Amino acid sequence: MQQERLEKYARLLVDVGLNVQKGQEVIVRCGLDQPDFTAMVVEECYKRGASRVKVEWSYMPVSRLNAIYRSLETLSEFSAIEEEEFKRRLKKDTAIIWLDSEDPDGMTGVDDEKMAAANKAKFPFVKPYRDALENKYQWCIAAVPGREWAEKVFPELKGADAIEKLWEAILYTARVDDDPIKAWDRHNAELLKHCKLLNSYKFESLEYKSKNGTDFKVGLNPKGLFLGGGEETLGTKVYFNPNIPSEEVFTSPMRGKAEGVVVATKPLSYQGKLIENFSVKFKDGKVVEVHAEKNQELLEKMVTMDEGASYLGEVALIGYDSPINNTGILFYNTLFDENASCHLALGRGFNNCLEGFENYSYEQCKELGINDSMIHVDFMIGSRDLEITGVTKDGKRVPVFKNGDWVI
Ligand code: ZN
Repeated sequence: MQQERLEKYARLLVDVGLNVQKGQEVIVRCGLDQPDFTAMVVEECYKRGASRVKVEWSYMPVSRLNAIYRSLETLSEFSAIEEEEFKRRLKKDTAIIWLDSEDPDGMTGVDDEKMAAANKAKFPFVKPYRDALENKYQWCIAAVPGREWAEKVFPELKGADAIEKLWEAILYTARVDDDPIKAWDRHNAELLKHCKLLNSYKFESLEYKSKNGTDFKVGLNPKGLFLGGGEETLGTKVYFNPNIPSEEVFTSPMRGKAEGVVVATKPLSYQGKLIENFSVKFKDGKVVEVHAEKNQELLEKMVTMDEGASYLGEVALIGYDSPINNTGILFYNTLFDENASCHLALGRGFNNCLEGFENYSYEQCKELGINDSMIHVDFMIGSRDLEITGVTKDGKRVPVFKNGDWVI
């Protein structure tokens, strides 16, 4: 890939994604796949005035060996070092960027039950820090190609050719063209326009219908807001883009209000495995039935991970004509696949989707209907013929999506 284009991408991630502030600390989390690009990102952070940039490398084959050989007890440990890292991040308002290049099949052979139990055991110790950090600092998830991932996405290609093609797809969907920063200004303005319109209707519910069998209604939160594109940090009010790419306009629905069946339109990559051709049935907001042609057990485990895992945390709207969908590529990666199509997420909701959320405690947000869970897993339900209708409090019906795309 051309050096110049990669530099533009690195600049986009640091300026628009993180919007690194003078004197701020930054953590870069990445694999070993693109060390030169990682160095470009580090340099851009310093050029913007970062005081310290720490790269946290990981290597999936080693993560996999740890998952296989370590006991449940050692996997569940919340070490003093980890706790100190959390404390430092809280004190320093550390910004974090993930450069994801993971092999979608990289965790094959790992015992899901053991990993779920370890996460569960560790969660109570991590949670206070995670809650305290929520919306306080800028974060961004973006991607770079890894060899295994690229070869999975383009099975007809090998090695450098597959990597080059995946770079091309990543840069295209991230709008890295002549002037990516300007392109993101325009894109953020467009997403904001959809949010404003949706918020002006104050819909009580959204109804979904598609020929594939989706027949579903979800209740929205009376205090809920649709968000999309850039966000602001709490307190410091720094504008940043948590996902690059991002095409979605989303909200956290009202916990306990979802009825009917949704049929997934793309496979779900979860814990390194693919759940395929599945549907989920809701009653009183809760998952009451799941069917999957492949990895049904994993899906069942996912929705029973904890009490909140069977309730919705997110409802996201994305036009079928999104750049990601138009590539026709299945990326086997949530960042891309979730931005290809309308989706729902099971598990943890977003407190910042409540109007005036900064005035509520974490517990109050929960009481107001934002779901809480240790998981947040997106799955795709957008289709070419999807219709979504907004229903207002007084029963007025407003078409929101027709033939899979925005009509408001
Ligand atoms: Zn989403």
